[in-house]
Amino acid sequence: MTRANIIAIDGPAASGKSTVAERLAKELGYLFFDTGIMYRAVTLAALEQLHAVDDEAQVTQLAESVQIDVDPASVQDGRMCDVLLGGRDVTWLIRSAQVDANVSQVSAYPGVRQAMTVQQRRIGKRGSVVMVGRDIGTVVLPEADLKVYLDASVEERARRRYVENQERGRQSDYEEILASMKRRDAIDSSRAVAPLKPADDAVILNTDGLSIEEVVDRLRQLSQ
Ligand code: C5P
Repeated sequence: MTRANIIAIDGPAASGKSTVAERLAKELGYLFFDTGIMYRAVTLAALEQLHAVDDEAQVTQLAESVQIDVDPASVQDGRMCDVLLGGRDVTWLIRSAQVDANVSQVSAYPGVRQAMTVQQRRIGKRGSVVMVGRDIGTVVLPEADLKVYLDASVEERARRRYVENQERGRQSDYEEILASMKRRDAIDSSRAVAPLKPADDAVILNTDGLSIEEVVDRLRQLSQ
């Protein structure tokens, strides 16, 4: 059997996608690409430049013109990579509660998705890639050799995000995270274009109670 060349990993917020996908990509010598970064960067740009995300036409125009770069990590502060918006380091700014609260609205705009999807396809089609998001197996790379949908209960995901914030020395409130995550899940799953859902041929993996190593082991087996 040949090893999967294009691997698509989808799932809801904080299902552990990025952590396990990054490890798998490193082991396989593949590119790890987290598409959530792009929607977050557009959202940050809209909040900074338009002071709101309600004007669909303006946000879409911004998505079509904004320059997002992902470079190897230049600082050892827990980041997986540097995220640059117009050349400026926004790696942590895109993880703010304000971006969390607005990103699902931005990513529901069809024109924004169109602009992001074109770029993601270009990168994904080169192969030797583990791409992570909400619609990679269904829309961006339906030809992927392996599609995995990672799931976990919303309480477990909120708990993980809360612990992650604590480890990074960021103040946060569990109940607020839980409420924000439920809201984001609801918008992501019900939008008209590219909603969050497993592809028909995806392997669904519930990670409740599984360690990161256990999930990576399972992905490794699936990719062989
Ligand atoms: O994965 P992450 O939580 O960083 O994604 C942030 C948001 O970006 C999601 O809640 C979703 O609204 C959007 N997103 C998307 N499609 C993707 C990746 C992310 O709509 N492929």
